[in-house]
Amino acid sequence: MNQRSKMLAMKHTEPEPILTSDSTGAPAPADSTVPRQVPLLPAMAILKTPYFHVLGYSVAGEESVVQLPELNVVFDIGKCPRPVLTSDFCLLTHGHIDHSAGLVYYLSQRTFQGMSPGTVLCPAAIADGLTQILQAWATLEGKVPAHRLVPMRPGEEVELRKGLIVRAFATCHTVASVGFLLLDRREKLKPELLEQNLPGHVLRDMKKRGEKITYTLDIPLAAYTGDTSMAETLTQDGVCEARVLITECTFFAPEHRRRAAQGRHLHLDDLLEALPKLRNELVLIAHVSRRTYWRWAARQLHRAIAGMEHLPKVEFLMEHAQHLQVRPGKAAAFIPVEPPITEEAD
Ligand SMILES: [Zn+2]
Ligand SMILES: [Zn+2]
Repeated sequence: MNQRSKMLAMKHTEPEPILTSDSTGAPAPADSTVPRQVPLLPAMAILKTPYFHVLGYSVAGEESVVQLPELNVVFDIGKCPRPVLTSDFCLLTHGHIDHSAGLVYYLSQRTFQGMSPGTVLCPAAIADGLTQILQAWATLEGKVPAHRLVPMRPGEEVELRKGLIVRAFATCHTVASVGFLLLDRREKLKPELLEQNLPGHVLRDMKKRGEKITYTLDIPLAAYTGDTSMAETLTQDGVCEARVLITECTFFAPEHRRRAAQGRHLHLDDLLEALPKLRNELVLIAHVSRRTYWRWAARQLHRAIAGMEHLPKVEFLMEHAQHLQVRPGKAAAFIPVEPPITEEAD
């Protein structure tokens, strides 16, 4: 072996210093030879409400994906983190890439993993565009993934499973958009009949005769706005009563008012206008701009609402961020793991 070959052989066998990034995405110092732990998935929020979990990630312009696993839905799909594959329904609020880029992967991967075809509800105006994207991708992939596409206009409803209804509501953004409201719909015996304490066979006979013995009770469970600009979006019927309202609020700094108006997003001032009218148990803020550190945003919000009474509880989705580790096997399971301890400037 000549000198040059020896040097090449040594080069291949000597371990290279591994430069990697930590969980914050910051590059490791150049002189570090100790690899740091790289998370399997980026930080995702998991929040347990009394009714369902909220799982997701939402940063303006980057990615928004918010799953309610027990209700079998994922709102928007900027990317497709593995846990959201388990939801049969993807409720897409609009076509901006940070909300929709994971869609083809979601549909294709469900087929690949032997799951039933995904159903996508979307604003009616973008249904053709989505079909074209799926067909264009098929020229690369070989086939259009199995799916069902349901165009939605404000006020229209779809039954997701018995008693679980989704209703589209109007939002106001730079492109065609809708929000989604999930309703628990129950048929209840009319109060006047309940008072009479009638036996079952009498009620059955009344029903057979075609008499209406029940009324419909809708319990608004969750509302998700997607991107929107008007405080009025939040105060619509059903939306302002949902147990959990997940709304965008992109901008908080006074100097970002113009940006909010240009991009048709909510600003803290709009949220403050709507908050006293909301009867939600929990308002979850999503889609905060990368220009604003969410803790600073939270301080502005809590300062502004200090002393105001009868407001719903307000939290930020990403304050519940933690790291997830994928369990081996099919798409279903995920387990939260302790987030690494990092110094965060406040
Ligand atoms: Zn967005
Ligand atoms: Zn948008």
